[in-house]
Amino acid sequence: MSFKEVFDRYSWDEVKASIYNKTASDVIHALTKRERNLEDFKALISPAAMPFLEDMAKMSHALTLQRFGNTMQLYTPMYLSNECQNICTYCGFSLDNKIRRKTLSEAEIEKEVAAIKKLGFQHILLVTGEANQTVGVDYIERAIRQVRPHFANLSMEVQPLDQEDYERLIPQGLHSVLVYQETYHKEDYKKHHPKGKKSNFDYRLDTPDRLGRAGVHKMGLGALIGLEDWRVDSFFVALHLNYLEKQYWQTKYSISFPRLRPFSGGLEPKVEMVDRELVQLICAYRIFNQEIELSLSTREMERFRDHAIKLGITTMSAGSKTNPGGYAVEPQSLEQFEISDERSPAAIQEMLEKNGYEPVWKDWDIALENV
Ligand code: SF4
Repeated sequence: MSFKEVFDRYSWDEVKASIYNKTASDVIHALTKRERNLEDFKALISPAAMPFLEDMAKMSHALTLQRFGNTMQLYTPMYLSNECQNICTYCGFSLDNKIRRKTLSEAEIEKEVAAIKKLGFQHILLVTGEANQTVGVDYIERAIRQVRPHFANLSMEVQPLDQEDYERLIPQGLHSVLVYQETYHKEDYKKHHPKGKKSNFDYRLDTPDRLGRAGVHKMGLGALIGLEDWRVDSFFVALHLNYLEKQYWQTKYSISFPRLRPFSGGLEPKVEMVDRELVQLICAYRIFNQEIELSLSTREMERFRDHAIKLGITTMSAGSKTNPGGYAVEPQSLEQFEISDERSPAAIQEMLEKNGYEPVWKDWDIALENV
């Protein structure tokens, strides 16, 4: 069975109604149980849970400490290319956006690697747009081979690939793959992805299944917050996670909460998520699932990030550049989206230490790959 079959049993409108109908007693029930199911998760993300935010934050903090200790993993993205054949209404790299396109050559990748290593990172996330001619599987494979020996851990966020492609890349040292559904609202998904391979909702929805079958170590899920009702989208992320954990139990999982950010030619969020709601969502995921890694990027403001480390977040990016070559080759070129937390990795390290957290630059080694 694939997730699509599970997904097809649900109706967006019914899920929405059921979340908005949750009551204070449903929330109390969810908070007092030992283990929570998807109905409890609905209660935790419902408007009815808002008055319980303080309790949720305390519980989420305690559960995170218990499982992860006072640690915070740090990583940074490395954008290899901004070429893209898709139109996505919310992205600076969209095909219809007239920007200068750039794909890093081998020599340029070398320069970027050196600049990123100087910052102290051992965990790296390779990012590209979706352009099969220039940044197809061959390019990605060459890049992984080139970059992998310099870092302890390598993740990627690129176009969804076929299972055989993942099976080809994993032995090259690919550790984890992030693939966000953007929105689980099928009709709205079409509106935001009118052209290109990404407009195929089902192919994207099936990607974590292909990754699971290929045996990836870790995968990252999420929805782009702002495209649709975040409560409903977050329920579907939890549903997806629940299914995947049962189906591919040897794989680890992480969740991210990207909020729509300004970019060149920008799209206004349809639904604005305020900070208190993001706090609610982070805590809800943690209370629902104690094993999951929760990741927060530099899209969020300094103040929010400083606060969020005590809420349940276990992984953060730092010093991010969201343009190809942004660290050394082309620091001034157009970013995919604006960064809100512009502090240096060293400043993030200092902030973490001040708060009693140990920054973790490396928790994996290539030697563990075949263990
Ligand atoms: S979100 Fe990804 S696929 Fe869409 S335009 Fe941006 S880079 Fe391309």
